[in-house]
Amino acid sequence: MGNCECAAPQEHSNPRYEGICQKCSKQIHPDRLDSPENVHAFYDRLAESIFVPDRSKPGLPPVVPDLFREFRGQCEARWDVGRPKFGRRYLSRDNSADGREESTDGGNYALYDVLQHGGLQNDREVDLALEEARFLYKAFECNRKRTAKRQGSP
Ligand SMILES: [Zn+2]
Repeated sequence: MGNCECAAPQEHSNPRYEGICQKCSKQIHPDRLDSPENVHAFYDRLAESIFVPDRSKPGLPPVVPDLFREFRGQCEARWDVGRPKFGRRYLSRDNSADGREESTDGGNYALYDVLQHGGLQNDREVDLALEEARFLYKAFECNRKRTAKRQGSP
């Protein structure tokens, strides 16, 4: 029978048909589903890409800071909360555009925080907010590159 090949699959609204595309009635490939396994695997790979083992301590796993655990925990908790609310709409919406919008929102939040705590004359606040906004711009740039590559750009 094969798996669903729809460009924008739509999961069946009846929970009895979880993972079945409503448009073509075929199974949506498990690799495309936001199962706990796939969500955890993504954040495992993110941690592995950021935190590498210490060469001076062979055999020991890399040290993952508490801050990353907090970030990951929050990402996974937000996925968990959104799951029953939004279902698998991500299969058919423009996730790249939504991601860019979140980056720009983050930039504005950094600005609002500066304005709330002394304004643009407060150099220390501004410097830290600009550092944060720089990474949000970087996220915006990476998002654009990823989207362009998918569309055939080198
Ligand atoms: Zn389908």
